[in-house]
Amino acid sequence: MNLNASLTIALSKGRIFEQTLPLLAHAGVEPLEDPETSRKLILETTNPRVKFVIIRASDVPTYVQYGAADLGVAGKDVLLEHGGEGLYEPLDLEIARCRLMVAGLPDSRPPSSRRLRIATKYVHCAERYFAAKGQQVEIIKLYGSMELAPLVGLADQIVDLVESGNTLKANGLVPLEHIADISSRLVVNKASWKMKHEAVTGLLELLREAVGGE
Ligand code: ATP
Ligand code: MG
Repeated sequence: MNLNASLTIALSKGRIFEQTLPLLAHAGVEPLEDPETSRKLILETTNPRVKFVIIRASDVPTYVQYGAADLGVAGKDVLLEHGGEGLYEPLDLEIARCRLMVAGLPDSRPPSSRRLRIATKYVHCAERYFAAKGQQVEIIKLYGSMELAPLVGLADQIVDLVESGNTLKANGLVPLEHIADISSRLVVNKASWKMKHEAVTGLLELLREAVGGE
């Protein structure tokens, strides 16, 4: 890769890091340390002009939007929730696939005396989805373990990511409505796209090849 500018790439630990690694390796970029064992938040790579910053999945759009990272990899769920301001989203990496769904207890009846309560960490997605259906709901923001909410009467339903459905099943819940298909996307800061065009598009094309299995 002919990089004539330095690039910072924002990644989150876990499945996104693991599944992006082979794609970046195709582009000649491999981390010099493993973020799962290293405590470092900035990782050098085999390409001296490329470094990774390791951050929370939901913070990736923010780092890229403000130019703290030139590029990043973020789930479509996180991008829908963030809104995508200040970002280009030029490539679907086709990794970390799952679905954003409404789920709940089987055969539960909608409450008659109040609005349906929805627990989720995807507040904006849930608001938009139910508003588009013309349904008035009360959204309860949670940060994790959404499956618990209907079991303890905190909410009637949840909006969450579903992969196999095993987590729902293990908690006696069923998928009810499909909101969106989710996969991880490459995102690029708009100024970096202009100012570091050659470096950014060079990396983008190599990643595109890797996704296509060429
Ligand atoms: P945070 O720590 O910021 O709350 P998180 O715990 O949701 O993030 P992960 O669970 O690693 O972080 O998820 C990162 C991304 O991976 C999600 O935004 C989503 O796009 C995708 N993802 C999450 N769960 C699944 C799943 N079960 N199957 C496939 N992809 C998933
Ligand atoms: Mg998680």
